[in-house]
Amino acid sequence: MENINFNDKRIRELIKTHPLLNEIILTKEVFWPNPKYSSFQEAMKKISIGDKDVEAAEERLKRFAPYIAKCFPETAKANGIIESPIVRIPNIHKRLEEIFDNKILGSLLLKCDSHLPISGSIKARGGIYEVLKHAEELAIKNNMLNIEDDYSILDSNIFRSFYSNYSIAVGSTGNLGLSIGIIGAQLGFKVYVHMSGDAKEWKKNLLRSKGVTVIEYDSDYSRAVEEGRRQAQSDPKMYFIDDENSLDLFLGYTVVASRLKIQLKEMDIIVDENRPLFVYLPCGVGGGPGGVAFGLKLLFGDNVHCFFAEPTHSPCMLIGLMTGLHDKICVQDFGIDNITAADGLAVGRPSAFIGKTLENLISGCFTVEDDNLYKLLSTLADREDIYLEPSALAGIPGAVKLFKDKLGRKYIKDNNLEDKMKNAVHIPWATGGSMVPRDVIEEYYNRGLRLNK
Ligand SMILES: *Cc1c(COP(=O)(O)O)cnc(C)c1O
Repeated sequence: MENINFNDKRIRELIKTHPLLNEIILTKEVFWPNPKYSSFQEAMKKISIGDKDVEAAEERLKRFAPYIAKCFPETAKANGIIESPIVRIPNIHKRLEEIFDNKILGSLLLKCDSHLPISGSIKARGGIYEVLKHAEELAIKNNMLNIEDDYSILDSNIFRSFYSNYSIAVGSTGNLGLSIGIIGAQLGFKVYVHMSGDAKEWKKNLLRSKGVTVIEYDSDYSRAVEEGRRQAQSDPKMYFIDDENSLDLFLGYTVVASRLKIQLKEMDIIVDENRPLFVYLPCGVGGGPGGVAFGLKLLFGDNVHCFFAEPTHSPCMLIGLMTGLHDKICVQDFGIDNITAADGLAVGRPSAFIGKTLENLISGCFTVEDDNLYKLLSTLADREDIYLEPSALAGIPGAVKLFKDKLGRKYIKDNNLEDKMKNAVHIPWATGGSMVPRDVIEEYYNRGLRLNK
């Protein structure tokens, strides 16, 4: 990967062209509507991924459902489909209006990927999907499996011994490693997880308890990914899961869209021209929020508006999209340190694949301070009895920022949404938290309590 070597002059020029960078550099909270956001039809002209790819991913997950149901009994009720609940959060709706002294028109729902089975985060979508796809391809190529088979046969010594000849490598800030380690080890693969310095101790310990090899780095996410990629290059039987570029990972996230549509329908919510949907997605490198956003766009088109949420100290997607430089620029180029309590979002350089593919489909980005993540964490716990990890709170203030921030209101106006906002549905995406050990959650919670005083 080649990086442009910016001298100060180029950085100064970027700041001149994009004055909001002044605030971003000072790590202030910002709201940025994407000027390149365009109609769905227009944006799709440049994108070669489509419905067929998403359907293929859905079909693959259905083939694996009997296996998942057998190995992970918590999914049995859903017949082996890994899905999370969505809930109304009226108390936090009211509380946000009080805190920000601003109305949120429409209703507020929380998509609880924090409570996805198997690995308790949004990575139980993309990460698990890509491992399953790799496992299927290996077994089919070796004449051990046919797509007509009942895939629960994979839960056997024959298959585990087969997969033990192969290995998987991944770089992660924690949750992706957790997902891939858990499903990979369950299938029988040897798994190597390269963990960035941000990764929490309990995530590494949990992986080791499953026989996964955890390699630790003091440096950030980009280095961990680089090392994983390097390790896999030297071994033809090692498969590298590329969080920065993988189409499969991306497709694993997209399948939520059709399921969400059903969940909303069960709540008597039909998204259409008069009832716009707003989603607020915590963003690290971009794959998770990117895949979810793309799936939703394919299904709801111009009636869904996707905003990405990042920590003020790791606004990599914001900077990549704003400058159009994507992975050719990182937050450190602006003197921003990429140090945040939101370990899942601690990424300094965004995915170019996501940025380029979705540059006309993402409605905008906003940033949130760490202290506010903690405050929201304990507020959500108190008001709704839902406990999340810090990263997962980043989307929560999105709806109120949309109404309160001058640029948020401009987005509403520019998109002719003013009359429709009273019917709007806002969904902050809660991306992780249910597997965090109790003592760690308590620490987060108490910290938020103290800050709220
Ligand atoms: C990974 C992660 C995200 C963001 O996903 P990316 O693919 O890195 O953008 C958000 N929240 C949590 C809790 C995560 O673990």
